[in-house]
Amino acid sequence: MKIYEFFEKNAGLKDHVAIKFKGETITYGDLPKYVNSYAAYLQSLGVKKGDKVILSMPNCPEFVFSYLGSAKAGAVTIPLNLMYTMEEIQYVVKESEADTIVVHPVVLKNVDISAFGKLNLKNIVVLSDDTKKKIMEHDDFKQVEIDDDEVCTYLYTSGTTGKPKGAMLTHRNFEADVVAMDEISDLGPDDNFLCVLPLFHSFSWTVNVLFALYLGSTVTIKDNFMPKDTLETLLNEDITVFCGVPSIFAFLIRMVEKGQFKALRLAISGGAPLAPEVQRGFEEKFNFPLVEGYGLSEAAPVAMLNPLGVDEIRKPGSIGLPLPCNEAKIVDEYNNEVPVGEVGELILKGSNIMVGYHNMPEETEKVLRNGWLHTGDVAKKDEDGYYYIVDRLKDMIILGGFNVYPREVEEALMEHPAVREAAVIGVGDKYKGEEVKAFIVLEDGMTADRKELQNFLHDKLAKYKIPKIFEFVNELPKSPTGKVLKKLLK
Ligand code: AMP
Repeated sequence: MKIYEFFEKNAGLKDHVAIKFKGETITYGDLPKYVNSYAAYLQSLGVKKGDKVILSMPNCPEFVFSYLGSAKAGAVTIPLNLMYTMEEIQYVVKESEADTIVVHPVVLKNVDISAFGKLNLKNIVVLSDDTKKKIMEHDDFKQVEIDDDEVCTYLYTSGTTGKPKGAMLTHRNFEADVVAMDEISDLGPDDNFLCVLPLFHSFSWTVNVLFALYLGSTVTIKDNFMPKDTLETLLNEDITVFCGVPSIFAFLIRMVEKGQFKALRLAISGGAPLAPEVQRGFEEKFNFPLVEGYGLSEAAPVAMLNPLGVDEIRKPGSIGLPLPCNEAKIVDEYNNEVPVGEVGELILKGSNIMVGYHNMPEETEKVLRNGWLHTGDVAKKDEDGYYYIVDRLKDMIILGGFNVYPREVEEALMEHPAVREAAVIGVGDKYKGEEVKAFIVLEDGMTADRKELQNFLHDKLAKYKIPKIFEFVNELPKSPTGKVLKKLLK
């Protein structure tokens, strides 16, 4: 199935709302007209099969129409991270060989349109109200032959080190992920997904849009995560499914009283580690599942989820079990599987795994070996088959021959009542190679100093893991999917 066919199979739902946005509603009956018009409009600009179309847009229905319309015209869609600088945008335009960009007017508040003019693009579409009207007049979409195994997306990823790489994903990759999630859930047309995470990231795109439209559910789209608005929407509208990043769930535990959620029945956390006490605290307080999952752009993206059923076992701190579309293994540096409980690199194989990085055969060979995707994440598996992320390989700190996994130290620090958030990195040290440094955000109105926190860690961690350097900060720099930007801390 192609990604634009996911919703087409629900055309029978006619008056059922597919998308809600700022008081506007688009039904399953209307959605094909929007997508076909966007596809036909792109065709009228000369966009053909295999061409590359960049989207630079915040969350909005037009993001969905443009993405699916571009796919229907046979083009490769490249959703752009809105945090990218002009230099990074230039890099992506050049690297992807794109010649069309669709820009939302909001983006032009920060980026001068003339900068796009210098990019050698054939088409720059600014989605003004006039353009949107003009697009809807196009009703002459010409059918394109597309195979499920054709690439429909480049997801530029791994901005945390080196240049972004374009993970090439096919229609089948997305279909595999969506079908697998359907197999393990009981969601359907009566569900309403609240989408606050950015659609340019695949967590939100695949789960909030592709999965929701495949199910015939409603997706309520918000421009972004605004705490007060999210809270009001979750409490007052009939939202049943909510995808968030860990800090949002910590916020909800603080702000919402027991019994206040009426319709919400499933919360999914991904993108970054969910603290075990948040997972546990949330389920104890609200009595419905908060499911931690794990994924990466290269896997379209969801690779693992804890079980979704109310009575099934979710293990706090675990990313759960592999989705039915992919298998997983933990291997050592020689590619041998390690015994249960031992730490190694997580590798994945399945129909959701990308075909490679665009124009980067060497980078592709590094991560895709014998059909297995080497995730760069250090993990372990327990005797029940649940997986645990220990850390990113590249974040590991090596001091005097010992390995320190920052996440272990961060979790220990967060057990201290005064610590709201912690991030640990390695900083250069003349003697040991690296030294452990912690950045701490304190809970409002609470205090703790370096000595106090070091003493607190004494019973919990081996001495070499205890940070020598502390910096107290008001907040940690984070990506929209909740990842602490360690490069910036360094
Ligand atoms: P991205 O390609 O931007 O989706 O980033 C993927 C990376 O996010 C993974 O390789 C992990 O390092 C990290 N990640 C995603 N989900 C989790 C999770 N539940 N726990 C820990 N790390 C995660």
